[in-house]
This record gives sequence, structure tokens and C-alpha cells, in this order.
Amino acid sequence: MKKYFGSAVVCGLSLLFACASHAQVDTRWKIHDMNRPVPPVVTPGTSSTQETPGKAPSDAIVLFDGKDLSQWLDKDNGPAKWKVENGYFEVVAHTGYIHTKQPFGDCQLHVEFSEPNPPKGESQGRGNSGVFLMGLYEIQVLDSYENKTYADGQAAAVYGQYPPQVNTSRPPGQWQWYDIVFHGPRFDGTGKLLKPARITVFHNGVLVQDNVEPTGPTEHGERPPYKAGPDKLPLALQDHGDPVRYRNIWIRELKEGQ
Ligand code: MG
Repeated sequence: MKKYFGSAVVCGLSLLFACASHAQVDTRWKIHDMNRPVPPVVTPGTSSTQETPGKAPSDAIVLFDGKDLSQWLDKDNGPAKWKVENGYFEVVAHTGYIHTKQPFGDCQLHVEFSEPNPPKGESQGRGNSGVFLMGLYEIQVLDSYENKTYADGQAAAVYGQYPPQVNTSRPPGQWQWYDIVFHGPRFDGTGKLLKPARITVFHNGVLVQDNVEPTGPTEHGERPPYKAGPDKLPLALQDHGDPVRYRNIWIRELKEGQ
């Protein structure tokens, strides 16, 4: 009896946790209630082609529009030293990661990248860079077109944790894009983890990460636990020594509950 009751409590708690971590219908409003506030109007952006980057939606913050790196800083918080030309910017080896001036937490992020062509190196040595959400959670950028490496380190992996569901990489030299939905972790006042981060990724329009929960920050060769910190931190891009190119980067901040 005691055992049964115990498992019922555990079940109830897991259900409560499951409910708390997912959107629910707002019962303050009747179904089809004309008094319910309507969502704000956003003018949609346009899709990119190989030749031309698309436009961001009207409520996005544009982090790179093809002209300059004014929204980015280098590791010492000085001006970003990566090379800007022809509407893209390119990693300059050994100048270090760059990060946004502005911190971000929950967001929708669009990033386009192009791998060095002709390809050089193998495995993790071919076109390696990375998109670091909150500077902590890496969505791997790699030339994974006919390039064997470990599954949790290929393009669009949550590095060291979740391989992408499929490999939908384009050949080097072509523009590719990630559309990412990110929710940061939440902690209570004592620093205890309340909710892990959640990540969804589309690679070239194909779903590759479906609301996965990182075990903590991503690292090479280890999976460290979460550490309590702010809800927003700068977004970073990785210098892994390879001349990966980026263009058309924009971000929409998400409000709690979105
Ligand atoms: Mg990387």
C-alpha cells in the first residue's frame, strides 16, 4: 500500500512537472472569445536563396546584415576581428570566438553559414565552427557533407549530447542555415535547477533537433552539469581555426510562455 501510494505521488509529481514545462490553454478566456487579446502583427521576412540572403521578420534584431560586425565583440570585448567581405563574414583563425554585444536568453535564431570550398581536413578538422547559445550550448557547425565523424559532433548536433535526427548538409561552398528555437534553463533562488534548457533546430528547413534537453553546457569529452546563472548571456560563434563563412543572422527574443 505504502509502495503504491509512493509511486502515485511520484507519478503525480512527474505529471505536474510535465504540465509546468509545456504550454497550456489559458482558461481565463472562453473558447473563441472576441475579447481575448490578439497577437501583435509581424511582417514576415523572405527566404534566402544561394545567391541572395533573405530578409528578417519585422520584429527581429538583425545581428549581421552583410555590412559590418558592429553587433559583435571579440573575446577581450574589443571589436570583432573576423573578416567581412561580399555580404558575409569569415572566421579568422586564432583570433578567438566572437560574441554579441547584447545578451540573449529564450529566442528564435536564424544563422546562415558556408563551409570552406574546396574542403580541407577530415572529421572534426573540416569546417568546424559553432553557434553557442548563451555562450554555453553549442549547435555544431561542421562540413558534414561526406565527412565521417562521431555522431554527436556532426553538423547540427547539440555537441557531445544529441546527434541530429538526419544529416541534411549541403556540399561545401553552398549556403546552409539553422533555424533554432531555444529556451534557457531556469533556476530557483538557491541555484537549484528547475527546468533544463530546450533546443529545437531546423537545418536547411529539415527538423533535426526536436525540443531536446541538454544535460548542461556542451564541452569536448565531458558533460558538465548546469550551473546557476543569468537568464540572458551573449550568443557566441566559435573560432576552431577553419575559415567558415556566415551571413544573414537574426534573432527574435521570446517572452516567457511563448
Ligand atoms: Mg564546433
